[in-house]
Amino acid sequence: MNFLEERIVKDGIVKEGNVLKVDSFLNHQMDIKLLDQMGAEFKRRFGNKPINKILTIEASGIGIACVAAQHFDVPVVFAKKSQSINLDGEMYVAEVESFTHKCINHVIVAKKFLTPEDHVLIIDDFLANGCALQGLIQIVQSAGATVEGIGIAIEKGFQSGGRIIRNLGFQLESLAIVDGMNAETGEIQFRDQSTAGVSGSVEPGEGEICRSSTLD
Ligand code: 5GP
Repeated sequence: MNFLEERIVKDGIVKEGNVLKVDSFLNHQMDIKLLDQMGAEFKRRFGNKPINKILTIEASGIGIACVAAQHFDVPVVFAKKSQSINLDGEMYVAEVESFTHKCINHVIVAKKFLTPEDHVLIIDDFLANGCALQGLIQIVQSAGATVEGIGIAIEKGFQSGGRIIRNLGFQLESLAIVDGMNAETGEIQFRDQSTAGVSGSVEPGEGEICRSSTLD
């Protein structure tokens, strides 16, 4: 087990509905030394890419992205979420379905912070169905910028996001991939990323489930 998997086993809580709670160290209270280790690992995995900007989404991605950004020495842009928006032509906007809140969010980035010259590393805390990521990817592409890679803390490998994003050809690196979890026993099963491929298995019919489109 790597450092993040060990921490998930120690402090993560498996909830009903395929939700893993990691709020004691990752997305409510944050263990900054752990985040720093994660940032170093992202740098190790993406260090050969010409990354000049990190993009994440509020709120949980921001802490992870900021600590990682110190390893890359680049600025962080975080997409804002809003239910109601005024489009004034200065924003990139994508519609994203929220896994945790079961609603549609608008994800917004000001055009001045993303340009065709940008080489972007996208970072987020969780990857489930991939809706949040697909919204961020659409925004980067709308800006004419390049997605150099995607770094995720925890991927839920039994949901379809990882498979979909990898099939699109992106370098997606998840520091821990959970392939199964049991809310009754609290047991968590990780994918062995050292030997096997990381494509994983997805239930039939779990394909294109994000309602995600870019508005301009
Ligand atoms: P997706 O868009 O990939 O379906 O879901 C990603 C977003 O949903 C993440 O940004 C994260 O905030 C939230 N999320 C998805 N699954 C979980 C989970 O099991 N636990 C927590 N804490 N957040 C999750």
